[in-house]
Amino acid sequence: MNPLPTLFRTHLEILQVNLGYRCNQRCLHCHVNAGPERTEMMDQATIHEVIAYLESSNVQTVDLTGGAPELNPYFKELVQSTRAMGFHVLDRCNLTVLEQPGLEGLEEFLAKHHVEIIASLPCYMKENVDYQRGEGVFKTSLRVLKKLNRLGYGQTGSGLVLNLVYNPLGSFLPPQQSFLEDEYRRELGERYGIVFNHLYTITNMPIHRFETLLIAKGERLSYLNLLHQAHRDSNLESVMCRRLISVDYQGVVFDCDFNQALGLPLRWKDKPRVHLSELKGIDLEGFPIPLLEHCLGCTAGAGSSCTGVLSSPG
Ligand code: SF4
Ligand code: SF4
Repeated sequence: MNPLPTLFRTHLEILQVNLGYRCNQRCLHCHVNAGPERTEMMDQATIHEVIAYLESSNVQTVDLTGGAPELNPYFKELVQSTRAMGFHVLDRCNLTVLEQPGLEGLEEFLAKHHVEIIASLPCYMKENVDYQRGEGVFKTSLRVLKKLNRLGYGQTGSGLVLNLVYNPLGSFLPPQQSFLEDEYRRELGERYGIVFNHLYTITNMPIHRFETLLIAKGERLSYLNLLHQAHRDSNLESVMCRRLISVDYQGVVFDCDFNQALGLPLRWKDKPRVHLSELKGIDLEGFPIPLLEHCLGCTAGAGSSCTGVLSSPG
């Protein structure tokens, strides 16, 4: 039985923009099934619609994701425009993409525009990272992290924020975020001289590639049971969808990136789907968000969002 109620939106703070499902990696847990073979990418006209929507909104943060958002040919245009308009811009970066041919100098571009980087690094051990994200990913990730540190990212007083993301390597919940952050800081610092601002722990969603993996290992039901048992009502207050909308590469709006991955658009005026351009000037506060079983991935344990846990350990 789904124990989750319908929630209602508060004021909108974040526009999460999915620039397309193409990625240079093909990670085991990927909730959007991203990979090098995916061709769905936001076109320039839709980028301009995103900018037009932002002009009329009260959003403070633009959260760029994908796939690998940097592979979109209009990534720089969107960053330049939104930074010039005064938005806080986040780049959800898989690190290795910054060594892809044609993207040379992108680290400097991100630093110049003071883009916050949220970088995936599911462990400080090579074996674990390469298992989940592909052979050679750990070595490349370290090289890129060192370069970002040299540019000032993660360094005290630089104003260039570098946050890392951990997600479990299997069918279990993340450990305590503050404990793991200390571990990462010590291990990455002592072994490689790498510094960062914060670590976010994110629960794996039982959808798409991670769900396929669970099914293959016969662990889907036990993982769902774990999420059910660990559900906390107290997390409902702060799940990210209450203050965020997610837009896909075609401009269609969703309550979050997970619902986007599942093809469950935001419900508005009984329309099967709503385009971002239709929401210009519309205040979504008070709009309902129906929660489904996968939402337990956000409400289990300390809770999970694109910026880590929702509540303190207890
Ligand atoms: S998890 Fe991130 S880096 Fe990995 S395939 Fe998906 S989008 Fe790419
Ligand atoms: S998956 Fe999480 S963020 Fe998305 S609608 Fe459910 S509770 Fe909200």
